[in-house]
Amino acid sequence: MDLAALYRTTALAIAGAKPVRSVIGRYGWRLGVGRFVAGEDIRSAVPVLLAIQASGRRVILDLLGEFVESESASRAVAEAVKESVAVARERGVEPYFSVKPTQLGLGVSAELALELADGVASAIGAAGGHLCLDMENVPYVSGTLDLYEELRRAGHHHVSTVLQSYLFRTPEDLDRLIGLAGAYPDVTTALRLVKGAYRETAEHALQDVAGVEEAYRALAYRALGAGLKLNVATHDEGLQRELLAYAQGAALSQDRYEVQMLYGVKPQLQERLSAAGLPVRVYVPFGSDWYGYFSRRLAERPANLAFVARGLFG
Ligand SMILES: Cc1cc2nc3c(=O)[nH]c(=O)nc-3n(C[C@H](O)[C@H](O)[C@H](O)COP(=O)(O)OP(=O)(O)OC[C@H]3O[C@@H](n4cnc5c(N)ncnc54)[C@H](O)[C@@H]3O)c2cc1C
Repeated sequence: MDLAALYRTTALAIAGAKPVRSVIGRYGWRLGVGRFVAGEDIRSAVPVLLAIQASGRRVILDLLGEFVESESASRAVAEAVKESVAVARERGVEPYFSVKPTQLGLGVSAELALELADGVASAIGAAGGHLCLDMENVPYVSGTLDLYEELRRAGHHHVSTVLQSYLFRTPEDLDRLIGLAGAYPDVTTALRLVKGAYRETAEHALQDVAGVEEAYRALAYRALGAGLKLNVATHDEGLQRELLAYAQGAALSQDRYEVQMLYGVKPQLQERLSAAGLPVRVYVPFGSDWYGYFSRRLAERPANLAFVARGLFG
């Protein structure tokens, strides 16, 4: 394991410890959560979302939350997402949503997740939007792909999902998505490709930065070659440059690729790419259940811990 991977693994382990959770959970906004999270609810996030749209970038809305453990709580999340769709529509925000399958009950049962995801997909579809099923940690990968496939088979072609280049299984999962896309040649099949944000063991995932990057490159070319729309979701400027140059060199139309980046990460780069006429979409989380999301962002870059330290001791 290289140093960067070691930092990430250690930071995620520390963030999972109860005392750390309790301090960061209590003082979060003072500790810099607002750099990565646009507001505690959809209404407070609307000004951020509108400003991003006004700058020429597009948005992905993410009502924060994950690993919901009861049926009633999952149902409440599904209703909250539908309410957010209505608010987005009313306020002129594009209803392009990302949802974590465990928010919709994937950890409770596959049937519950399908019922709730179907309802959410219908609400988003009626608003003319898009739904991406985020990819979580290893226990949920197969379930998420099954859920995605069921939604497509039910006719929800405005739904996409995510693959993580750090997992050994991903090349096979990509084959599965390419096969599914082949069943629907008249509609776009979009794929968000990421490196992967969770703490996974050497049994399941590459542990070195260079290997994860190389895997990303190979998967990206394969997805593009197979005709998928590739959402290049990384802040890795080398990978972005290479894949954008490939897309432009191959004269791919802009509905075949886009760059996706997180709110609060490299905003100047986002604006530069967008000003150069490239399609850029920003993932904008909001909501009160921000702990897991925030700790993954801290684990991605040692310098981000400086914000927390300044908030605590500054
Ligand atoms: C739109 C979007 C959606 C995502 N959805 C998922 C998902 O569904 N499932 C999943 O597992 N992961 C998801 N991720 C997270 C992803 O897996 C990575 O953990 C994250 O993007 C960091 O890796 P990187 O690709 O940017 O590359 P890295 O090699 O980690 O970083 C490249 C450069 O960006 C900088 N950078 C990266 N992260 C940060 C940060 N937090 N703060 C400041 N600088 C940073 C680094 O310092 C480095 O300079 C998503 C990422 C994006 C952009």
